[in-house]
Amino acid sequence: MSDIVEVEEEEIDHDCTSNIVCPYCGYEDEDSYEHYEEGETNLDCKDCGRNFNLSVGVSYYFSSNRISCEEENEEHEWTDHFFRKEEESKEKELIILLECRKCKHNEIEEVSKEEWLQRRSDFNEKV
Ligand SMILES: [Zn+2]
Ligand SMILES: [Zn+2]
Repeated sequence: MSDIVEVEEEEIDHDCTSNIVCPYCGYEDEDSYEHYEEGETNLDCKDCGRNFNLSVGVSYYFSSNRISCEEENEEHEWTDHFFRKEEESKEKELIILLECRKCKHNEIEEVSKEEWLQRRSDFNEKV
């Protein structure tokens, strides 16, 4: 074993941050929005005074989701999925997962064994 002890420098998170962070001292500029113009510029740190290069980037991302039936004032079209939830200590719980085939919204219903069996046989008859 070597007896050289590595002293880890505290890492400054200055890459893709929501505020401008000085790469030397870690000072976070709360007024970063003043620089919300795309491109590169040199700035002086308001704290340690050192000059650093700042590049401002704007990123876009897209997320799409189905509009839920509630929002559309429509009824959900439930599809039932029957399964057992294994519980270590307790008896097996029987669960019905209701999933809407239109908006993919889902709900879980915990039911008694009788109801579970009944609903499953009703369901199998429908299919
Ligand atoms: Zn600084
Ligand atoms: Zn729905």
